[in-house]
Amino acid sequence: MGEFTHNSVVIIGAGIFGLSTALAIADRHPATQITVVDRATPPVEDGTSVDTTRCIRADYADPIYAKLAEKAQQEFENDPELSKYYFKQGMSFVTDGKPGPMLDVWNRGLVNIKRDPSVLIQTETPEAVYQQIHGKDANIVPLKNLTQPRKWNRGYCNLQDAFVDAKEIIRVYYERCLSRPSISFECGVPVEQILKQDGRARGVLLANGKEIIADLTLVAAGAWSPKLIDLEGLVNSSAIEVAWLKVTDEEVKRWGNMSITTNLSTGFNLFPPYKGEIKCLRRSAGYKNTVSIPHPENPSKIIQTSLPRTIVTNPTDMIPAEAEAALRENLREIMPQLADRKFDRTKLCWLTQTQSADFIIAPYPSIQDLHVATGGSAHAWKFLPIIGGFVLDSMIGNLDPKLAAKWAYAPKGADGGSSPRMGGNAQELREFVRSSQIARSML
Ligand SMILES: Cc1cc2nc3c(=O)[nH]c(=O)nc-3n(C[C@H](O)[C@H](O)[C@H](O)COP(=O)(O)OP(=O)(O)OC[C@H]3O[C@@H](n4cnc5c(N)ncnc54)[C@H](O)[C@@H]3O)c2cc1C
Repeated sequence: MGEFTHNSVVIIGAGIFGLSTALAIADRHPATQITVVDRATPPVEDGTSVDTTRCIRADYADPIYAKLAEKAQQEFENDPELSKYYFKQGMSFVTDGKPGPMLDVWNRGLVNIKRDPSVLIQTETPEAVYQQIHGKDANIVPLKNLTQPRKWNRGYCNLQDAFVDAKEIIRVYYERCLSRPSISFECGVPVEQILKQDGRARGVLLANGKEIIADLTLVAAGAWSPKLIDLEGLVNSSAIEVAWLKVTDEEVKRWGNMSITTNLSTGFNLFPPYKGEIKCLRRSAGYKNTVSIPHPENPSKIIQTSLPRTIVTNPTDMIPAEAEAALRENLREIMPQLADRKFDRTKLCWLTQTQSADFIIAPYPSIQDLHVATGGSAHAWKFLPIIGGFVLDSMIGNLDPKLAAKWAYAPKGADGGSSPRMGGNAQELREFVRSSQIARSML
């Protein structure tokens, strides 16, 4: 059993990994001084953890994530400050039925849910899939209106699944951190580099020249992490397309109780109306933004890596035309009323992806007193209430060996369906990016 002997910790990043870890340390080791540093004040507008909605579900094929997600979901339900922003409306998983890895993921999910038939609704035909959203008398979109064969063919809904207001819950976590005397925040200036001495980390240097010295440093900088530490071959930062459409009061009434609806074959994800709008996204292969930067450990060497280009750094960026077309193609079949409606706004949501979709929660191998918690891989948000406890266990050297192996600082195998994403490689964003100043009419 290790011990937590650090008097001070600096955490880089106020997303789910950073905030959850700050609270876990404050609760278990109240004498340790914690400084959370972020480029901006939470909820950080372009942080991956901040969005109108996120899915909370425990129906993982992987038994480890299934158990952890169930525990985290109970925390959302039992915590009165969080449950205000938690909406248990189920999640429907649809497929085109074509053989392939996504159908396998879909089938495994169905086998899992069948263990508790009371939470399962099956929709075996395109009509049933469509009517689950639009009501039992609704007629599916005629084939002649579609530009491709039907993709929304068979589905099932898990009534246990929920969505949350991700931004409001991050705000709750930020306020909780502020209420702890041992946690302080340093927001608005990015960390330029990790300070090192004799092979140990000793805090961070901010871009304005200020140093924050600490016994232990945690990198929880999400998709920006490859700027600060060497993650070559372990994670890739890329972004997927998200769009919001305004809906009328009548549409809110009509679709208000629908489930989150996702198509594993097309990667499309549609949320129920929330605060007068519907969000949709696609778990596409996505986009990367390759830049040349000094190697984090050896600054005389220049490396190429992908780092976020966001609505904050490039406020007029819109999602690429092909991404918009793919979202609209899905809407045309499953939500035709919205297929040609102007997007209220769009964004590329950045994420840091490991090959297996397993996180990285581990000591940094070549520098002592430096720890890493990243690699959220498009599915880490739901673990917010519990993930910090595991990061702390890892810092102490007490992490359950199975988890330590799963979240090791090492290359990983293939994703077994924890966070299914469309195949293919991320494309270079600068070749596809559009600016709203020249294309606002298309919004
Ligand atoms: C479109 C989309 C949908 C998703 N849907 C779901 C879902 O439904 N359910 C689910 O469980 N998960 C989902 N995820 C995944 C989940 O949102 C992420 O895994 C999680 O939010 C990652 O959190 P993080 O703390 O690693 O990153 P972030 O929230 O990005 O936090 C990192 C922070 O570090 C800060 N930072 C970076 N560099 C520096 C620096 N140099 N100095 C100071 N601060 C710095 C940033 O400003 C940022 O605030 C989704 C992801 C995306 C993109």
